[in-house]
Amino acid sequence: MLYLDNAATSPMRPQVFAAMLPYLQENFYNPSSVYSPARKVRAAIDDTRAFIGDALGVSSEEIFFTSGGTESDNWAIKGTLEKATRGRHIVTSAAEHHGILYVCKHLEKNGCEVTYLDVDGEGFVNAQDLARALRDDTALVSVMLANNEVGTIQPIAEMAEIARQRGVPFHTDAVQAVGHIPINISELGVDMLSFSAHKFGGPKGIGVMYIKKGTPVFPLFWGGAQERSKRAGTENVAGIVGMGEALKITLEELPTEITRVSALRDKLIAEILREIPHTSLNGATGDKRLPGNVNVSFRFIEGESVLLILDMQGCCASTGSACSSGSLEPSHVLTAMGISPEMANGAIRFSLGAANSENDIYALMQILKPAVEKLRMLSPLYDDYLKNNKGS
Ligand code: PLP
Repeated sequence: MLYLDNAATSPMRPQVFAAMLPYLQENFYNPSSVYSPARKVRAAIDDTRAFIGDALGVSSEEIFFTSGGTESDNWAIKGTLEKATRGRHIVTSAAEHHGILYVCKHLEKNGCEVTYLDVDGEGFVNAQDLARALRDDTALVSVMLANNEVGTIQPIAEMAEIARQRGVPFHTDAVQAVGHIPINISELGVDMLSFSAHKFGGPKGIGVMYIKKGTPVFPLFWGGAQERSKRAGTENVAGIVGMGEALKITLEELPTEITRVSALRDKLIAEILREIPHTSLNGATGDKRLPGNVNVSFRFIEGESVLLILDMQGCCASTGSACSSGSLEPSHVLTAMGISPEMANGAIRFSLGAANSENDIYALMQILKPAVEKLRMLSPLYDDYLKNNKGS
């Protein structure tokens, strides 16, 4: 099997599974109980929190465990808006994940006003556009650190500083970034940051919301006093321990993996553009793009059809975010980047990870090129193109 969809989710490391197992079996106790076996479980949570805070350059008291990226994103927006005193205006970008966009759409129906910042042809938000969008009643800015479809890495530190000068809290969705590029949250200067373990070799259903001390945010979940009364509910202990282990391994490997995976990415991009005509790269290049992200559009055909052929040959890829796969609407990210509906519908995302090697690039090219050629032979658009360009 050729797995090239690591941005949708990544395979769990065996060491992560091994670290989690005791907390699903003998160490099953509720961490809120007072007896000593339960205190051992509580210690595992505290140790992981301390490690994560340390690894990301913040205090452990600012790390809150959630069920993943979606919950953290929802919490940042809803929790801030509920407590906002300045007003109910939100600034975000048109290329955010639906975990942000759909919350904003929902809040718009409930009296909030949202400004969706444009992105340029490579997916970048312009920091000066952000500066112009801020108002006296702006309650929150949320701009993602790295885009899940095209891998564009935003200048978050610059934007967070602009918001800070105006006294507006800044949230960033770092779900695709943590474990893939170096991150020091203090240096980024954000007030809130979301991430999710299953994007870097950890388990699904566990993530983090970083909340800078003093940031006014209401809880999303009410009930018990877990997570310092900010996020009620018995902790996903095995998930937390697994996330810590996955982050540890990933960060140890990160310096070499960035170089190795970026080289694989650039090789795959070069091969596709050289071997398959009428193809274009979506997004930025070099270190402004996530190391593992390749997003290309094949003219005249549907990305979904290419995926079906790849799937029949044992290759897993995606047309964009896993959540929007299967929808016939062109990607909102590519549309926001000004890419035509035809090219947006012909887009495919390959996302490389720790388990991929150069052999996978060759294996993919063996099936991708014939797949695109076969579909073009059946495409009325391609037929028209050939007729119109006869002899040219
Ligand atoms: N934000 C981004 C940028 C993502 O890519 C994803 C998942 O694909 C999420 C949020 C949602 O994360 P989770 O799957 O942990 O809910």
